[in-house]
Amino acid sequence: MNTQKNCWWFIVAQGQILLQPQGDLVPYGNLDDLPLTSALVANKIEIGEYQSSPCYLVELKEPRDVGFGEYDDLRALLGRVDDRLFDIAGRAFQLLLFYKTHQYCGQCGQKMQAIDWEVAMQCYPCKHRCYPRVSPCIIVGIRKENKILLALHRRHQKSNNQVFTVLAGFTEAGETLEHCVEREVFEESAIKITNIQYVTSQPWPFPHSLMMGYTADYLSGEIKIDPRELVSADWYDINDLPKLPNEGTLARKLINRMISQCD
Ligand SMILES: [Zn+2]
Repeated sequence: MNTQKNCWWFIVAQGQILLQPQGDLVPYGNLDDLPLTSALVANKIEIGEYQSSPCYLVELKEPRDVGFGEYDDLRALLGRVDDRLFDIAGRAFQLLLFYKTHQYCGQCGQKMQAIDWEVAMQCYPCKHRCYPRVSPCIIVGIRKENKILLALHRRHQKSNNQVFTVLAGFTEAGETLEHCVEREVFEESAIKITNIQYVTSQPWPFPHSLMMGYTADYLSGEIKIDPRELVSADWYDINDLPKLPNEGTLARKLINRMISQCD
């Protein structure tokens, strides 16, 4: 094992990640400088590279006190570190979930094994192979002159962080992303949109989504919400906005972009 090189250590135990109190939050250093024994990191998995240093995932059975930092939820990193570092942390969680949920073949029931040249689980008896699941979903900011459509979602209503945000939903089998944008907007708000423009994407590891962000313009219809998904939805003047999603989220990036385009 090369213990001389500085590495990023994504140490995960029971769904939480070990974070340092300052700096980039994710522990960085060479193995000799960190209170991690070789035995502890024997099963480390390389999951990428950040700022020219390798990134390793280490799974501990329980949140062991390693002498520095504290364990916290993955969401604690969101908006507090560089987007790329957050994405690698998300990859760590997604890979752990993948290995945990693909122990047995879905086709014949035999035990599966990790293959070592790509991230996949293989059933040798029947040749079935599985890759980490990535679930595409769309998220769309909608403009109407200098107003934007924001909704209070049911999932936010229950939390103590009641933010008003843009519309989103999962892509269905056999559907283009553009069609998904139109369908989700119509299902949730009953309005029609036009000028659908792709903006950017964001892996969303809760647990394995890939959010694809769009903006669109209002075309026609009156807002009528789907009460199974939304508590309320309305047009908000960009100079008088309610509580918005945190910086770092794709939702906020789309909202910020629409605000800047209205100026
Ligand atoms: Zn099989």
